[in-house]
Formats: sequence, structure tokens, C-alpha cells
Amino acid sequence: MANLKHSNFTQNTLALHAGYNYDSQRTLSVPIYQSSAYNFENLDVAANRFALKELGNIYSRVGNPTVAVLQTRLAEVEGGGFAVLAATGAAAIFYAIVNLAEAGDNIVYSNKIYGGTQVLFAHTLKRFGIEARVFDIDNISSLEKVIDKKTKAIFFESLSNPQIAIADTSAITKIAKKHGIISICDNTVATPFLHKPFDFGVDISVHSLTKYVNGQGSAMGGGIIERKGLNELIRGNKRYPAFNTPDESYHGIVYAELGELPSYGIRLITEWLRNIGASISPFNAWLLIQGLETLELRIKQHSDSALEIAKFLESNKKIKSVFYPGLKSNPYNKLLKKYFANSRASGLLSFEAESFEAAQKICNNTELFSITANIGDSKSLIIHPYSTTHSQLSKAEMDSAGITPSTVRLSIGLESPSDLIKDLERTI
Ligand SMILES: *Cc1c(COP(=O)(O)O)cnc(C)c1O
Repeated sequence: MANLKHSNFTQNTLALHAGYNYDSQRTLSVPIYQSSAYNFENLDVAANRFALKELGNIYSRVGNPTVAVLQTRLAEVEGGGFAVLAATGAAAIFYAIVNLAEAGDNIVYSNKIYGGTQVLFAHTLKRFGIEARVFDIDNISSLEKVIDKKTKAIFFESLSNPQIAIADTSAITKIAKKHGIISICDNTVATPFLHKPFDFGVDISVHSLTKYVNGQGSAMGGGIIERKGLNELIRGNKRYPAFNTPDESYHGIVYAELGELPSYGIRLITEWLRNIGASISPFNAWLLIQGLETLELRIKQHSDSALEIAKFLESNKKIKSVFYPGLKSNPYNKLLKKYFANSRASGLLSFEAESFEAAQKICNNTELFSITANIGDSKSLIIHPYSTTHSQLSKAEMDSAGITPSTVRLSIGLESPSDLIKDLERTI
């Protein structure tokens, strides 16, 4: 799949080169193919493409050359076999799930995940007749209890936003394998440079590319990547009849019998991208390509700066506690060492100020941290969850999310950490 002739390049090199072999003008920067549709050389070519006898451009809802570069590059960097992109991370997660589960089925998901995904699972999927059941990410024995014959996916986040919890991925995928269920890991916060889900048995990884891959808060996108060899788990698996019986909506195609083609990804395109259409724009794909090229450098810096700031906060007498997996005091520090490259923990941290008023004072008086509900930007962000992102929750829900009136959450950007520390010190 790679356009590179030799294999065994590092992830970082792949992030700069994979998937692009120069167009006819030999532009070094990947061109933006801002086109909705494509000319077929002749009718035979057209017919073969529609019949999936040859893969190629048909219409930009289902495929575009700029998008294809990012698609290949992302799959290579993550160490997967095939990737499909969507307009946003939310769309990617919806597609990843409905490609496996339909009315009457259920999925199981971790209690510590992104709020938008939780609402999608608990409320939106229900309207489609798909039940979503929760398991406790900090107590994996709770997972097997909610699995049954109709369970089609196990979903969790490798490093969760906003709880900053790290999953015991191997323990989860061991249970998934035992039952022949597909596991899906949202790897947005970790990025492929800190954590490689496929190395620990995950079947599908999903990303909000809007965050660290873009890195500058300038474009949205989502990615769904399947591991190499996923076909073997799907072929003949009674849990997944949609892949093993003829699909009337696509000339009676049986996805599990497409030979070498990635059956999960192909169905994602022909069923979901084609018929629902939350496709990424070529321009956004191009912006995300620029971001991916520097992701390794950036995520290292985000992580190293966050650790420095976490240590500063931990040493400050007015701060009651600091939550960052890179700190030895953190309950996830052991899992971080097991699963994350060089024990780097990405850019999210939270802390408890002395009081509600003290937390408000910090948020309102920092000069460099912007009060913004996002993560992964090159600029540092600050939020007071109690009065914003988590204000709709009940007291019990706040407790389980670890939110109090004095909690402050930071997404550490790429400014000099010494300036960020000075800025915080002034307001504490
Ligand atoms: C932001 C985010 C999403 C949703 O992605 P969008 O690109 O905003 O649609 C999903 N998962 C995680 C972990 C996120 O941080």
C-alpha cells in the first residue's frame, strides 16, 4: 500500500512521505484536488470502478486524491492496514460503530470517554435501536459481565479526554479476542506517536484529527484505521453477518469475500460514506497532512511541557492536587509506562485550586491560556469544567468524572513552558 519502495521506515519518516508519489506536475507539497468528480477514460473503466473490480476515483463523497494521501499516511503512521476518513471525529466514531452494529445489537463502552461520544452512544444510537452498555475502565472485570451474543464492539479511549485516564488495553483486547468481538480504541489524545493500539491487540483505532494531528485548531477531520489482518476475524464470524451475507444495496456483494481488500474499510466507504456522506473536504485533508508532518515533534513538546508544568503545580503550596499521568503520584503512571512511548503523557492535565474562587481567579487572569473548550491546539487552553463543559451533570456524575468546583483543566500548547509557568504563578 505504501508508495515508498523500501519498508521499515520510522513512524516519523512515514508521516512526511507515505502515500504521496508526486502528481504529474511533481509538486513537492501534496496538491489539493478540489474536485467533486472525475473523468473516466472510457465506459469499461467506469463500470469496473462501480463494480469494485478496480479501485479508483468516482466521486469525492467516496474518495479524493488529496484525501487518499492522508488516508494512506495515517494508516502507515498508526501501523494499520487501511484507513477511511470522515468530516469530523464524531462522524468517524458513528461510522466505526454502525459499520458493525444495527438495530437489536449492542455495543459496550468505557465509562471514561469524550462527552460527545458518550451522548452519541447513550442517546443517538438508541434511536437507531442499538443499545450501549457501560463498563468500568478502572475495573476490567466489569467488561465481560455486559457482553452477550449481540455485542458487536468494545469501545474505549487509550488516554481519555477529559478524565485523563489510561486504559489497560491488553486486558481489554484479551477479552475482546476471547469472544471474537471487534475492539475500537479512540487514540486522539495519545496520537500514534505516544501509543500504538495495534501493538496491544486493538482491531480498529479512531481519531479526531481536529486535535493534535491538525495541531493548530484550523480544520476538523476524523479517521478510522483497521489493523492488518482484520479480514480474518470478520470472515465467517457469526457475530458479523453484514460482512458475510450478500449486501443487496451493492450488487449482492459479500464483503468478507473481497480477497485481499480490507472488508471493514470497504464497507465503511460503500455503505456509510457513500450513503450518509460526512466526507472530509480535500482542503481540510491538506491542512491535516501539514499537521501530521510535524506531529511527532509537537506531541513530544506538548508532553514535556505538560510534565514540567505539572511538576511546578505539584510543588506549589496553594495547589491542593495535580492530575497528570506523567507524575509518579498519578494512579495511571504504571499504565503510562507500560503502554506509552518513553512514558510521555500528552498535553492534558488538571489540578485542584484552593477554592472555587481561586479556580475562577486563575482562569480569568492568565494571559497566555485561552478559555476555550478544545484540546491539542498549539496555544495553551484553560477551562473550568464545573461552570462550563460539565455544568449539566448531576453531583454524582461530577464526582465520578472527578470534577469539583475548584478543578481547573489545562491543554498545554507549544509556548515556552517557562512563560506558561510564570503566567500561572502570577494568578495562583
Ligand atoms: C474531540 C474529540 C472527539 C470528537 O471529534 P470532533 O473532531 O470534534 O468531531 C472524539 N474523541 C475525542 C477523544 C475527542 O477529544
